[in-house]
Amino acid sequence: MHESSATAETPDRQQVIDLRSDTVTKPSLEMRRAMFEAEVGDDVYGEDPTINRLEQRAAEIFGREAALFVPSGTMGNQIAAKLHTTHGQEVICEERGHVFNYEMAMMAHFSGLVARPVWAEDGILTWLHVKSKLRPKSYHAAKTGLVWLENTHNLAGGTVTPLDVFDEICDQAHALGLPVHLDGARIFNAAIFLGVPVSGLTAKADTAMFCLSKGLGAPVGSMLVGNAEVIDRGRIYRKALGGGMRQAGILAAAGLIALEQGPQKLQTDHENAKFLAEGLATIPGFKIDPAKVQTNIVICDITATGKNSGEISCALAGRKVLANGVGSELLRFVTHLDVSREECAQALKVVGEVCAAKA
Ligand SMILES: *Cc1c(COP(=O)(O)O)cnc(C)c1O
Repeated sequence: MHESSATAETPDRQQVIDLRSDTVTKPSLEMRRAMFEAEVGDDVYGEDPTINRLEQRAAEIFGREAALFVPSGTMGNQIAAKLHTTHGQEVICEERGHVFNYEMAMMAHFSGLVARPVWAEDGILTWLHVKSKLRPKSYHAAKTGLVWLENTHNLAGGTVTPLDVFDEICDQAHALGLPVHLDGARIFNAAIFLGVPVSGLTAKADTAMFCLSKGLGAPVGSMLVGNAEVIDRGRIYRKALGGGMRQAGILAAAGLIALEQGPQKLQTDHENAKFLAEGLATIPGFKIDPAKVQTNIVICDITATGKNSGEISCALAGRKVLANGVGSELLRFVTHLDVSREECAQALKVVGEVCAAKA
């Protein structure tokens, strides 16, 4: 646990090892102090100095003209979908992608778009995948309006798209006049894994979204980065979606600490995920290749245990270990700031015992 364990948690909660997601991290004492002391103003008037500072720093770190602070990754993604397209177009994305599965069909709802999903090994789209789904202007089929990439890929198990693969998609799409958005909710995890700065890893995308509230440890918030024109228009859609948050500098204050200090802590999460994967691979009925675990997400196929993910999740919760099912056949474990190596070891022990127990 990091220093947040010193704050007001019920004693019962403290013993829970929460591997459901890296969104569950609690703000550190340093963040809480910064939030308490944050200078604020009305951000809809552009007058919140702390939000302005966070947006400037994010733009700087990503080597972009501008950045926009948004309440959630979903809002950042949906603003991007709107920015790059017109109603009635298609968006090429990976089949297990967050935008396609976990954003409440908002591409259709808000922007009038249809997803054109394509399945890719380990969730890693290449130009060949994208090319196979392209639709030019015709009188029969909707035109492709946007190419959508996700790095790291959440539901494919935190997998990393190599830089050359990413750059090729961007170059080829741009040559056809197609914009590219990057859902980089966990782009810092990819950057740590590859040893490439996020500016280099996202340079060719027209816009990139990343989350402050996941592994970086902020309580709330995501950022959309891009050129000044696109981000300025993005402010209009943020307001339209209800994301004009007024004195939200109290959130940006925590976000700044997450942005400056979060990335260097991610390597530990990756090591803990590898440790978990190696342990899980030895549990009868758990199928996971630890060599494929690159970042902080471990997804196991548990069908050979004879139990479904709901049954295992429930049994684990009864022993104070939390992990989410992805459908009935997969179980996901996510490491983050608030789980230590010792807690991962304890979780492994509990998973082993639960799975050895007769149904
Ligand atoms: C978490 C996540 C998002 C956005 O999530 P919010 O919960 O809306 O902040 C977007 N894309 C991916 C890949 C994610 O994992």
